[in-house]
Amino acid sequence: MLRLQGIAVSSGIAIGEAMVLGRETFDVPDHLIEGTAVEEEIRRFREALESAVGELSRQRDAVIRELGQRSGSIFNAHLEILQDAKLREDIESLIRERHHAPERAVSRVLRRYADVFRRLPNPNFAERVNDVYDIERLLLRSLLGQPHREVFELQSPVVVLAANLTPSETARLDRRFVQGFVTETGGPGGHTAIVAQGLGIPAVVGTGPFLGEVSGGDTIIVDGDRGLVIVSPDNVTLEEYRAQSRAIAALQVELRDLRGLPAETRDGTRIHLLGNIEFPQEAETCLEQGAEGIGLYRTEFLYLGRSTLPQEEEHYQAYCQVIRSMGDRPVTVRTFDLGADKVPHEWLPRQLGWETESNPCLGLRSIRLALRHLPLFRSQLRAILRASALGRVEIMFPLIATLAELRQAKFVVADVMEELAEAGIPFRREIPIGMMVEVPSTVVMLDRFLPEVDFISIGTNDLLQYTMAVDRTNRAVVSLYNAAEPALIRLLSQALATAQEHGVPVGLCGQMSSSPIYTMLLIGLGLRQFSVTAGAILEIKKVCRSVTVAQCRMVAKRAMEMENARDIRAYLREELVSILPEFSRLP
Ligand code: PEP
Ligand code: MG
Repeated sequence: MLRLQGIAVSSGIAIGEAMVLGRETFDVPDHLIEGTAVEEEIRRFREALESAVGELSRQRDAVIRELGQRSGSIFNAHLEILQDAKLREDIESLIRERHHAPERAVSRVLRRYADVFRRLPNPNFAERVNDVYDIERLLLRSLLGQPHREVFELQSPVVVLAANLTPSETARLDRRFVQGFVTETGGPGGHTAIVAQGLGIPAVVGTGPFLGEVSGGDTIIVDGDRGLVIVSPDNVTLEEYRAQSRAIAALQVELRDLRGLPAETRDGTRIHLLGNIEFPQEAETCLEQGAEGIGLYRTEFLYLGRSTLPQEEEHYQAYCQVIRSMGDRPVTVRTFDLGADKVPHEWLPRQLGWETESNPCLGLRSIRLALRHLPLFRSQLRAILRASALGRVEIMFPLIATLAELRQAKFVVADVMEELAEAGIPFRREIPIGMMVEVPSTVVMLDRFLPEVDFISIGTNDLLQYTMAVDRTNRAVVSLYNAAEPALIRLLSQALATAQEHGVPVGLCGQMSSSPIYTMLLIGLGLRQFSVTAGAILEIKKVCRSVTVAQCRMVAKRAMEMENARDIRAYLREELVSILPEFSRLP
């Protein structure tokens, strides 16, 4: 039995068979070949190489046809490596002299290249490591004559184990078969984690390297509340976890009764619970769980995992789908928040001429990118505005840091409105316009922002990242990424008080609002609108209906007197569990 401690990112327990994604999905033969077979194997390798070059060239030509010459150049790096004479010589010499099968020779040589690139100090070379892995996969696929076993084409239930999963790969996980997942890398606030929560898949990230010690088919337990991963558990552990899993299922059944009831505190204060979504189809799930609207639609997911830009019509159809699901409930569409860990593969950066950034979280992301690439921004705004004729749509700008950005973004909206009006296209002129409060500068300057917006939504995921100077996707600094940090709580308290003074509606859509641990604190600080992942709606409602505002104010007051995150979190957990012992599984 192997126990690994990672970072808990998506609640629940999964018990199932391991499916290891990545290099292990190729069955690379490790036997030596006969001396007499050498020439035949070299011929097989050369054919595979030729077919890989052919396939890449075809892909490049297709992209050039669709997106123009410049976009096709993204294939040049791969083609260059693939056609390198030295690479070919190295592989052939392993086949000829060491009698390696071509698959093994390809893997060994390319992994050696990847290692060399990885150790180079220049980040531009370090980035080529992924190109080298791509080429390895391409050659192996071509040699083995069978498609790469995609996680997205599963036939039976599995726990997916991978070195890394991007947010868009996570989104393509088939919920019917993926019981849970574990990644070696990743941090607590990354979007892979957020998508896992949206899909309701228990997940642990940032365990560090362990894939070498697991085989496909091993039994795996994923404890998405404590961040534990157990490989080949003994019978006692397995039984313990089965019992916990049954208890969670029983709690879910009990919570279902709350769906039609309001989130009202015991002393009669109404709390509003809305849903966070990444994909239009999640709106339906939010509604089933009793969401009063969509408080955050992360539209950047329309751009991920694809090789072309979504056009206005595609945006429009996606928004219409959400509106259809939500009826007359409000839908807050956040304009695209691309960049940082939400990068739609390499084609978009290249197409838009982004330079490689050494600090992408502090770089040209989100609203900054939108204001720099107006045609992209305008086409999304046209779609949102057109959709506003059909339902209660609201526009929200992400990552606003200055008043000038807010004003520019609003100016673009006004200009797009004029364009639509001139063309006689219907839209709602009084559409509410709000902004995310997720950069500390906006909390400090909130009194100046508030007169210019209809609402704000606090994004604690980024607010924490930027307040503590801690990368939300980096497991090495996870101890600093804690929503119980007293500095964050002070900022929240300040923002909520200022918004209340100005009478501007305020919600909170960071992941903090989806954790029952923080519900009392947030109500105590004055929050009345939570936007949470679908799977958390009923749990948060349960807390709201079990407490009084007076009780929550006391909790917030005590928490604010404390000076470190560990004590605050322990205290909040204690208060929660004393009222609702069923949440004692939360660490
Ligand atoms: C946030 O930062 O809290 C937020 C809701 O936005 P995202 O997680 O998409 O960055
Ligand atoms: Mg954010």
